[in-house]
Amino acid sequence: MTFRPRAGKPPVLRGRFAFTARHPDAGEIEDAFELEIEIPPTFPHEVPFVIEIGGRIPREADHHVNTADNTLCLGSPLRLRQLVAEDPTLTGFAAKCLVPYLFAQSQKQAGSGKFVFGELDHGLPGMLDDYVSLFGVKEYSQAVEALRLLGMKKRKANKLPCPCGCRQRLGQCRFNTRLAKFRKVATRPWFRAERIAILEIVRLANERSEKAKAELRRRVPVFSSIAALL
Ligand SMILES: [Zn+2]
Repeated sequence: MTFRPRAGKPPVLRGRFAFTARHPDAGEIEDAFELEIEIPPTFPHEVPFVIEIGGRIPREADHHVNTADNTLCLGSPLRLRQLVAEDPTLTGFAAKCLVPYLFAQSQKQAGSGKFVFGELDHGLPGMLDDYVSLFGVKEYSQAVEALRLLGMKKRKANKLPCPCGCRQRLGQCRFNTRLAKFRKVATRPWFRAERIAILEIVRLANERSEKAKAELRRRVPVFSSIAALL
């Protein structure tokens, strides 16, 4: 791939991205995609955007592409940030976020017809399912409450009821440790904005008008659920 600085825009890496990866069920895949990877100036705090430019991945939500800007839907925003935080380099991003996605695309195209890691449901449930799994809770409402607490200062959040259902204050529960890890991944304003965005999507989902449905389709991408490869 070649590095291309651009006037007034973040730089991109452009060209052939080749990889070899193994998955216990799907076996080994060696493949390459033509990509353009936009590196935000705030990387690794913000995750790069990736566009497939070789015409292999249809630019459709069902194929895990954001139709608004043609970027690949590598995963839900918090999951991607969490993965990048584990190895905050471009190589880390490629290994943890990009290769699993391309592996699944390649396997799907080779005839399995399925995404090897599974796919999150369309729209809001998929988005919330991912938060439920990231936070290790059972209910959507608990995940939304966890987002609210992450939007507050730690000291204040610790005095409030724990979202895990233990009937203790957050500061007294082990869930506190789990939640605290996410504070390193994104900022309080980010969590506040994410919670507001989710509540707005819930409102649209409950409205059931055609206009609301169209708005929902525009706002909520179909995320692929990614996992680490060996
Ligand atoms: Zn608890």
